[in-house]
Amino acid sequence: MTQNTKNKQPGSLDNFCAEKLTTLESKSARRFFVETNRQAEAQTLRDDKTFISFSCNDYLDLSHHPKLIKAAQQAAADYGVGAGASRLVTGNHPLFGKLEGKLAGLKNTEDCLVFGSGYLANIGIIPAFAGAEDLLLIDELAHACINAGAQLAGARVIRFAHNDMADLEQHLTTHRANYRNCLILTDGVFSMDGDLAPLPHLRQMADTHNAWLMTDDAHGIGVIGGGHGSTHAFSPAVKVDIQMGTLSKAIGGYGGYVCASHHVCEFLRNRARSMVFSTGLPPMNIAAAMAALDVIAEDAELRDAPLRKARLFCNLVGLAEPQSPIVPVIFKTNEAVLVASTRLAEQGFLVVAIRPPTVPENTARLRIAFNANHKDTDIRRLAAGVNQARASLLKEDA
Ligand SMILES: *Cc1c(COP(=O)(O)O)cnc(C)c1O
Repeated sequence: MTQNTKNKQPGSLDNFCAEKLTTLESKSARRFFVETNRQAEAQTLRDDKTFISFSCNDYLDLSHHPKLIKAAQQAAADYGVGAGASRLVTGNHPLFGKLEGKLAGLKNTEDCLVFGSGYLANIGIIPAFAGAEDLLLIDELAHACINAGAQLAGARVIRFAHNDMADLEQHLTTHRANYRNCLILTDGVFSMDGDLAPLPHLRQMADTHNAWLMTDDAHGIGVIGGGHGSTHAFSPAVKVDIQMGTLSKAIGGYGGYVCASHHVCEFLRNRARSMVFSTGLPPMNIAAAMAALDVIAEDAELRDAPLRKARLFCNLVGLAEPQSPIVPVIFKTNEAVLVASTRLAEQGFLVVAIRPPTVPENTARLRIAFNANHKDTDIRRLAAGVNQARASLLKEDA
């Protein structure tokens, strides 16, 4: 028997995967990579066709900003393309401290620690603060990597109903006393729904019940609260004990960070395993992020543009006022959302269908992300296309 036919036997790894893929396919839930060539001004090339992308998290179009490209090129030329080791060994280039100073300044915290990515940040931070004797209360719609971090922590995990402060309070009242420490975790801006966490209420809840508060502000920095992020969407700004985020969305590049007090960050420098045992970010990524923060600090109009575009769109399709540049249009079934996405692609718009398990069952959606460089005329055309797709869905339902 050749290696190849042996692989196809019942019980083989190959067979296990083939059967799983067939199941996914039968639910319209199998996913495929599509080669995508992103360009400036939210343009995207797929199969030699140009689309206007409404599916990138590059809200400020900074991934193609000349100042960031130049900063990255210069850093690559000066310092090479890799960090060479973990930051605790020899990977801690002097640029790290500069970037961390800028991020702490933007977030108004004592200190900041940069990680390899946002995902790495969450799976490093959460287990550093919580173990078997502790309680983690997590919003049910929080990002997958918060849940991954919670699993690694081995703590008791309770997921509270989305943004439901009565549900959270009930869990705190019932369970808080049975645990040593308690950490409440939420997205600041929810990645698939675009709504904000009620941070003032969460702060109050944490204080009342002797708990700590952590936000994942991946979609807040640069575009919400004057660029400071979700804490500054409220007046007065809300104090959050641990604010993590990513450099890969509005910041345009790659990397993750946490902003907190000096002692919290110093403890993480010792105990966040995804930082300790993973190679530092290449200096060019750090240089690009620093340039991005400069652009964001200088340009209030740029920072506010994505949310302004989202407002225009919501107005045109009759959706409630958006709280962030992310607008979900729910189609419920995988089949319906795939049809809508295909129709929009025919009109030149890239709006990727988001399906379970990324979002809860029966809430398959178009997740529309607005970019500072989207043209209002294109947003009007997109709104017309979305209205059409929703109308034909209603007709089928009738
Ligand atoms: C994208 C995202 C992350 C992960 O960040 P990366 O830097 O891409 O690893 C974490 N949390 C939320 C809410 C996100 O949307």
